[in-house]
Amino acid sequence: MCRSLGWLWLVCLWLWAGPAPAVVLQVTPGQGQLLLHDAASVLEDPTGRLTLDAVRGQRFAPPAGGLSSFGFTASSYWFRFTLDNPGTATLPRLLVLRTNWLDTVDLYVPGADGQVVHRRFGDTLPFQEREYATPQFLVDLPVPPGQQTYYLRITSTQAFMAPMELWEPQAFHDSDRLWSAYYGMFYGILAVMVLYNAFIWTSTRDRNYLAYCAYLLSFFLMNAAYNGFAYQYFWPQSPRWSNWAHTPFIFAFQVVALWFTMHFLESRTRTPRVHRLMQLYLGLTLAAWVAVTLAGDPVAYNAAPVYCIFLGTPLILAAGLRAWWRGYRAARFFVLATMASLTGAFVTALTVSGLLPYTFARFHAAEFGILVDVVLLSLALADRINLMHQERRAAQAQATRQRLQASFLLEKANIRLEHQVQERTAELARARDEAEQLARLDVLTGVANRRSFQEVAEREFLRARRYSHALAVLVFDIDLFKQVNDTHGHAAGDMVICAVAGIVRGAVREVDFVARIGGEEFAVLLPEVQLADAQRTAERLRELVADWRGAFDGRVLRCTASFGVSIVEQDDPGFDTVLQRADQAMYAAKQAGRDQVSVYGALS
Ligand code: GH3
Ligand code: MG
Ligand code: MG
Repeated sequence: MCRSLGWLWLVCLWLWAGPAPAVVLQVTPGQGQLLLHDAASVLEDPTGRLTLDAVRGQRFAPPAGGLSSFGFTASSYWFRFTLDNPGTATLPRLLVLRTNWLDTVDLYVPGADGQVVHRRFGDTLPFQEREYATPQFLVDLPVPPGQQTYYLRITSTQAFMAPMELWEPQAFHDSDRLWSAYYGMFYGILAVMVLYNAFIWTSTRDRNYLAYCAYLLSFFLMNAAYNGFAYQYFWPQSPRWSNWAHTPFIFAFQVVALWFTMHFLESRTRTPRVHRLMQLYLGLTLAAWVAVTLAGDPVAYNAAPVYCIFLGTPLILAAGLRAWWRGYRAARFFVLATMASLTGAFVTALTVSGLLPYTFARFHAAEFGILVDVVLLSLALADRINLMHQERRAAQAQATRQRLQASFLLEKANIRLEHQVQERTAELARARDEAEQLARLDVLTGVANRRSFQEVAEREFLRARRYSHALAVLVFDIDLFKQVNDTHGHAAGDMVICAVAGIVRGAVREVDFVARIGGEEFAVLLPEVQLADAQRTAERLRELVADWRGAFDGRVLRCTASFGVSIVEQDDPGFDTVLQRADQAMYAAKQAGRDQVSVYGALS
């Protein structure tokens, strides 16, 4: 807000016209600078053919308050001013015409002898012919004592502006040194900014920086052309080109300014309607450029690009404001920067066109504007980088969040899966154990089956022989079991088998191993048991079986069994041998009348 008020104040200063006019200028030592255009009276010659003698008798218009801007015109203008040197010595002075693009300037100095000295300069003459090698026109104009009237005839197909100054030479050179420093700094800043942005462009490849380089370069070319530096340093031999060069440079500046604006504000996507308007205006500008170039009218040729600034400036500003309004952060700086540079260019264009009275500040407004622009747009581009960084950081944070979420979900799913796998594995293991167990157990009685007995017995046999431990085996068979089946039925037979198995299982030690090895035939492994103890155990078991009574279908069931006992001998080749011996003993018990225990060793 403060900044805008500051600008308003500056603009007001520019709008304020110069000092009141004086008709005869007193020239005295120590004055430094005199503004001749304040005192000069003017005569327009639309034909451009009047001579000094012809105009001398004509009426000149009184000075119009420092106005020596006439816009774009084909007329030539005559200026008349009178100097009064009240002293007795001729005073050395420099006549300075700041407008470097004036086509022809004819200076008529009446001599003491009544002769008129005529000197011609202007930018249609080669640069080398100048009295002083400066962009502006500088000629020695010694002022003799007394009053003297001077005539200047000026033509310009470019903007007609003729600020005329009379300087004491030393004062002029002092002031000019300051201005040289100013331009050195000004072009230095531009050059640094061009290099800086070109460097950023090469590393980021962001076209905005390239567009801004082009914008600054085109401003530089335009400015160097209309300040006369281009003629002095770039093409001093080509007055003709120098005269025609302003138009393409001013047009080019506007085209590049539009291009840069569209790029920077991203108008194609952010503000499409404004973008189309700018495209249209760009087309019109280019068309106007081509038209005035082909038409060949020098006044229109020079006026067109300056008038285009009056339309282009508000359009670019409006585009910036629109983008800002739509919430594009980078547009803030752009609007402020553009406001500075384009307002400057606008004021300069107004001054050049004669719509604003010439003052030094107004004429150089474009330069001051572009300096502010350079600073603000550097901030804008830095802000853009900042914005891009922020966006990238936000995107990275988002991606990280998503990645974390995804890996969290994956982890969860993995844990669940692992759980399920563990459960399934445990189930399978249980099932497998059960199946294995079942495969080793006898279905009817729940004691071990023959296969598992075989395995356990082989293992126990090997261990007993290896460590010379005792191992006894009992084999017993239910007596006359067929009769049980036949008398009471198969189910009753099953019940008897189960009961016998249960009795035996419950009567031996934990380490003893009971198995059903046939229909109604069982075996018991007794580790660490000698023959006598085995016989006692068999006897005990026999008694328990014989004492057992079961009830089935209201009838009483009972049974006996015959036992065979054997132990492992050191020279037994395998467990089968031991089992056969026990079997033989058991058969011996059968034959001896059943319900008894027979020990193998006792046979022989
Ligand atoms: P011995 O005293 O000589 O051993 O006479 P035994 O009748 O017991 O003789 P044998 O071994 O010839 O008869 C066994 C019978 O046991 C034959 C068969 O029908 C019966 N048996 C075998 N397994 C089962 C079974 O699981 N359940 C039932 N109910 N009977 C069975
Ligand atoms: Mg039997
Ligand atoms: Mg049998």
